[in-house]
Amino acid sequence: MKHPIIIWLRQDQRLSDHPALAAAEASNREVIPCYVLDTRDTRPWRPGGASRWWLYHSLSEIGQRIREQGGDLLLKHGDPVSIITELALEVGASAVYWSRAVEPHCRRDETALASTLEAHGIGSEGFAGNLLFAPEMIQNRSGAPFRVFTPFWKHCLANGSKMRAPTGPVSPEFSTDLPDGDVLDDWGLLPTHSNWAAGLKETWQPGEAAGQALLHKFVEKAPRYNTHRNFPAEDATSRLSPYLHFGNISAAQAYAAFSASGREPDQGVAAFQREVGWREFSAHLLVHFPSLPEKPFRPEFADFPWRDAPQLLKAWQTGQTGFPIVDAGMRQLWHTGWMHNRVRMVAASVLVKHLLVHWHHGEAWFWDTLVDADLGNNAAGWQWVAGCGADAAPYFRIFNPILQGQKFDAQGGYVRQWVPELAKLPDRYLHAPWLAPVEVLTDAGIKLGDNYPKPLVEPDVGRKQALAALATLKSRAC
Ligand SMILES: Cc1cc2nc3c(=O)[nH]c(=O)nc-3n(C[C@H](O)[C@H](O)[C@H](O)COP(=O)(O)OP(=O)(O)OC[C@H]3O[C@@H](n4cnc5c(N)ncnc54)[C@H](O)[C@@H]3O)c2cc1C
Repeated sequence: MKHPIIIWLRQDQRLSDHPALAAAEASNREVIPCYVLDTRDTRPWRPGGASRWWLYHSLSEIGQRIREQGGDLLLKHGDPVSIITELALEVGASAVYWSRAVEPHCRRDETALASTLEAHGIGSEGFAGNLLFAPEMIQNRSGAPFRVFTPFWKHCLANGSKMRAPTGPVSPEFSTDLPDGDVLDDWGLLPTHSNWAAGLKETWQPGEAAGQALLHKFVEKAPRYNTHRNFPAEDATSRLSPYLHFGNISAAQAYAAFSASGREPDQGVAAFQREVGWREFSAHLLVHFPSLPEKPFRPEFADFPWRDAPQLLKAWQTGQTGFPIVDAGMRQLWHTGWMHNRVRMVAASVLVKHLLVHWHHGEAWFWDTLVDADLGNNAAGWQWVAGCGADAAPYFRIFNPILQGQKFDAQGGYVRQWVPELAKLPDRYLHAPWLAPVEVLTDAGIKLGDNYPKPLVEPDVGRKQALAALATLKSRAC
């Protein structure tokens, strides 16, 4: 093995459209792919339970694909900067390549690794592989980052010629002579709560092959996307989010899949690509405003009078709020590790507005339970709903969980699937069971407060409380 190139794999767990691997292949050197499980105590935002489950299966899959090409995936744990440096010295690497990340701690690691390697005379390069554009390429006219999505996306579209175009699969010469590494099963990534993992397993097949297959299937469905995507009972969105987060597919592949299929772009495709644009925007925000996961983008919200209400939080987490659309979403999340976007918005809004619980708690729960948990998208999503984010919906716009249910789940297919105790309730009362006459409830087998909860707060009361809390911010500002 002569001066191989190390590929430091992170959220780029695929073998196609992988610029770092392609560059290693072009160098005609042997390649050692290595994944380091970051076990530092100081590591912020450790992967949650659902992410760890995905990671296990995704690493298994890519490891298998690399073995089919004659190599292997080296697994190590510890501080990625020291581990990769030691590895590079041990194997006499000529260079280390990686796909650039957007998370602040990962970016710090990249800088530290590059300078440590340089001190040892070892080359390094970070490649743009996970986004449509390198973050520093997108700036407004005054050279500052965008803070509002629409001009951001217009700017991206106007610079379409600079957008990354996906490249094909690579088959570099993987090294067969690897130093000792860890065994994936020893990392304890799989949840010990087997029921939970069963729901994830039933719903998902992590990895590049399944991600590509899902993307191809979605190309056929995309024309319906803009008209059907808000209805959670419909299978109208792509469900590609965990594949995009782990890099099982790239954003460039998702964006370009429609032109590759030879189909004329339509409104469905444009709407989907715009959502991929929201992912890009969240990444852009995280790069330029690294405190996004912790601090409100609008600083005045630091003084918001949040409640300390562990029981309300618990009821929300377990799908026992008494608002059927919210409970359906929270149970879908627990069972499958994913929740429909419309329902994420409503469930998040109820937590931060009707219940006045800090968005940090919702963000942390999603972080632990979503298979697509993503630092940028999650933080931007929560701040958007809480009204304190860049380009956020104003705080005083409060989703009404009854109306949202009636509008987006009018036939109740979603609520009936995830909240089966309400299945027999007529559509008219399905989204507000507490308004149903006692005999209707009895006929449907429901005893409120017994086999289904009363709402944690009357929606109008919750709304007024939220507005009163907002008013305290305004009065403090005066
Ligand atoms: C409170 C809250 C928290 C969220 N947390 C996450 C998270 O941790 N990880 C995550 O990937 N998404 C998050 N989202 C965004 C969105 O809900 C999911 O990306 C989407 O539901 C995933 O389903 P899909 O793949 O079928 O999306 P599609 O509708 O098919 O969209 C295609 C892709 O575009 C991206 N995308 C879509 N909507 C958004 C959006 N609003 N913001 C950013 N990117 C978007 C995703 O990568 C998605 O896979 C959050 C939204 C909210 C309101």
